Amino acid sequence: MLNSVEDLEGIASSVHDDLGMAPVDAFAIAEYLGLRCLPWAKSYAEISGDVIRHPIPPKTRETRMHGLVAHEAAHALMRDEGMAWRCEPSARYLAGALMLPRARFERDMVRADYDLEALRELHPNASAEMIVVRMTQLSSATAWVWDNGKLARQYGVDEDDVGDLVDRVLTVEQPVREGELGAWPIFDRSWRRVIVVKKAA
Ligand SMILES: [Zn+2]
Repeated sequence: MLNSVEDLEGIASSVHDDLGMAPVDAFAIAEYLGLRCLPWAKSYAEISGDVIRHPIPPKTRETRMHGLVAHEAAHALMRDEGMAWRCEPSARYLAGALMLPRARFERDMVRADYDLEALRELHPNASAEMIVVRMTQLSSATAWVWDNGKLARQYGVDEDDVGDLVDRVLTVEQPVREGELGAWPIFDRSWRRVIVVKKAA
């Protein structure tokens, strides 16, 4: 990542200080930055000058749409700040920091005891994956994303094998909590995602 985490958190929190939104809306952030958002039929988003083109429901889930707009707004913010604005890891980090304000999210994470379902209710415009990524950035939690019974991505360094827990969630189709581990089904028609979170030890 070409920009420092502290710089990225700093510009995210100055946006939040000005906007003071709960829950965060990526379109309000874009508008605040003087960007114009226009829907298009493609499945990804793109920024050109001050215009963000983005997909819309039902083709794209609401949370993904917010995530894509926040990502492009993040590029614009870094550009305005004179930072390395094309850096993709920085844009991904800043999009998460914009959608999930650090102080508020840290407080919610502790109060909700790392419960993904509760955090999704508190932050309805953020995707489940964005929420767990933010958890692992702001605590020593680890998260695993399993799609259709296969590990797709891991965030954090824990070496637990959570495959059995994922199988149980796929069978009972309900969240399972076990000690410091929690696993949640995120199903969308035939697409069966399970997200496992291990709390900070
Ligand atoms: Zn990008």
